[in-house]
Amino acid sequence: MAKKMRAVQVSNPKKAFEIVEKDIPSPKKGTARVKIQACGICHSDSFVKEGLFPNIQYPRVPGHEIAGVIDAVGEEVGNWKVGDRIGIGWYGGHCKICESCRRGDFITCSNPQVPGITYDGGYQEYMIAPIEALALVPENLSPAEVAPLMCAGITTFNALRHSGAIAGDTVAILGIGGLGHLAIQYAVKMGFRTVAIARGQEKATLSKKLGAHHYIDSKNQNVSEELKKLGGAKAILATATNTKAINDMLDGLSVNGKLVLLGVPEAPISVPVLPMIAGRRSVEGWPCGTSSDSQDTLSFSAMTGVRSTNQIFPLEKAEEAYQLMMSGKARFRVVLQTRFSEEI
Ligand SMILES: [Zn+2]
Ligand SMILES: [Zn+2]
Repeated sequence: MAKKMRAVQVSNPKKAFEIVEKDIPSPKKGTARVKIQACGICHSDSFVKEGLFPNIQYPRVPGHEIAGVIDAVGEEVGNWKVGDRIGIGWYGGHCKICESCRRGDFITCSNPQVPGITYDGGYQEYMIAPIEALALVPENLSPAEVAPLMCAGITTFNALRHSGAIAGDTVAILGIGGLGHLAIQYAVKMGFRTVAIARGQEKATLSKKLGAHHYIDSKNQNVSEELKKLGGAKAILATATNTKAINDMLDGLSVNGKLVLLGVPEAPISVPVLPMIAGRRSVEGWPCGTSSDSQDTLSFSAMTGVRSTNQIFPLEKAEEAYQLMMSGKARFRVVLQTRFSEEI
């Protein structure tokens, strides 16, 4: 086996990625070496690229939408074995000692491990990952299909299934981008009356194609009034970051309705308090999920046909691919593939 591999790293924040040759790392106790086949590019990768995250040690290889195959294991890895197809997302391990960890709530760990941030992630040919970060991949999903589901997929799937809405309820998805186009599909497959909301008429056809039952054009229609005509939304997932668009929807929540924030708005949102009290309405944020949630996301997607629409680039074109993602023009997720992408 070759001893060297290619990696795309950020050596200095705000500079272009560097393609470097590195030694292939060996797994230690409780970890696996993953031969990476595909890695999605997420907006959060800009934390590393632009130096926006505290205490990142550079050089760092970004990437937390990882799909690959276990290629070697250290000691004490339970049932994980060479040849297992796996995915890794934002959750990359937990500290075991903070208050959240002691209560078993690992995703809110106050000292979290994150691939591509606290250790080298998926923009490379091999990586080392702790076994708690691994999610098993079902047979009928390709690496490029798996990758975006590890962050954009799990975040929307998990937020929806914990939103309190039940089958038949009305659920609205604000924004039809990387997260939104997956959220619409999940909402439909979970049995919600699904309302897609975006600016202008351009995305109306796409939203119907993704299965949405209703479309609201936020540029030309009053979103809250339109939601009220449907009886109000039991849950609204805000995947867009436009503060005004989020504010404009709040009045469209039903009694017990919940606004779930997934994107970070440009400015703080303003919440009219009286309707929140009178209708027991609420606003909450949702942080993706752990590796078992990722595994649920993958199984559900394989079973129901939910897929991300991807633009695929070879690993070496990471800079071009990243710039496309940052431009907001990607349709809809950008995925890097390594030379191992076709291997089983
Ligand atoms: Zn992400
Ligand atoms: Zn912890």
